[in-house]
Amino acid sequence: MTRIADLLAAGRTASFEFFPPKTEPGWATLGRTIADLEPIRPSFVSVTYGAGGSTRSRTHELVNWVRQETPLTPMAHLTCFGHRRAEIEAILEGYRAAGVTNILALGGDPPADALAEAPPSDYRYAVDLVEHIVGFGGFSVGVAAHPELHPRSADRADDRRHLAVKLAAADFAITQFFFDATHYLRLVDELATLGVDRPVVPGIMPITNPAQVRRMAELSGAEVPAWLVSRLDAAGGDPDELYRIGVDAATELCAELLDQGAPGLHFYTMNRSTATRDIATRLGLPAALRTTR
Ligand SMILES: Cc1cc2nc3c(=O)[nH]c(=O)nc-3n(C[C@H](O)[C@H](O)[C@H](O)COP(=O)(O)OP(=O)(O)OC[C@H]3O[C@@H](n4cnc5c(N)ncnc54)[C@H](O)[C@@H]3O)c2cc1C
Repeated sequence: MTRIADLLAAGRTASFEFFPPKTEPGWATLGRTIADLEPIRPSFVSVTYGAGGSTRSRTHELVNWVRQETPLTPMAHLTCFGHRRAEIEAILEGYRAAGVTNILALGGDPPADALAEAPPSDYRYAVDLVEHIVGFGGFSVGVAAHPELHPRSADRADDRRHLAVKLAAADFAITQFFFDATHYLRLVDELATLGVDRPVVPGIMPITNPAQVRRMAELSGAEVPAWLVSRLDAAGGDPDELYRIGVDAATELCAELLDQGAPGLHFYTMNRSTATRDIATRLGLPAALRTTR
């Protein structure tokens, strides 16, 4: 049973993130996406989890399907917001029984509706979940990192210190997406100053729909840099041109990150294969991962 910590220790990884579909056609699309991406031989694939458990059963279903029906190594996302320890324990038991050995331990977000009552929770921060999973045993544990700071972080130094504490307990981090390599490089430098030597894998969001990416960037605190906005604006709304610019920008970013020694690349696929496959082809994945770090 493959542990992501061991994969990262052995060399660079390429990984793909999916979300559990809500509809039958969504499952069919995802099935085709996974089949399309298999030739890139991803090191692992990850499956998101609705904070508070809204997609809990679908996450388990997809993770277990990947484990049983494909040659791929799955990683299950798990958020602690709104969960009791006993619920988390039951989820961990389920994954252990299914032979799933990798978990991305996350905080999750409170409901967007400020008036909605927060569900009872035994955890305050992701680090509390990391410690629970490590104590439970048997899992390689990853955490989230936010190159441009978490939107709720008022102070850069505090954000980095909290992340360093999380990474002292976890095996690796995967970052929120960003469009300028300097954000990632600064994060890695700041963590090194705090004595962190765990791998931090950059998260890559290929832009194929600028309006959607702008919305997601707003929510995640990522900046869409002016040079990228003007490249996208120059497309004048032509979908083919927007696609080409998005794939070009992501390919350039990935190449720079690999040049600078990133331990892997994690693609937010949005359950679609085309952009990720085109970027991977242009980078020469998976062979390009074998160049020295
Ligand atoms: C790669 C990746 C995958 C994701 N997948 C999902 C998913 O599947 N489902 C989902 O719902 N969300 C997902 N998210 C989003 C994530 O749940 C949110 O960003 C959430 O708001 C914070 O999660 P975290 O794990 O960074 O939390 P935390 O590590 O708890 O950090 C949240 C905030 O609390 C601060 N903090 C941490 N510890 C302390 C402390 N001891 N004292 C004071 N402040 C502290 C941090 O600086 C930060 O500002 C993902 C994010 C990333 C980057």
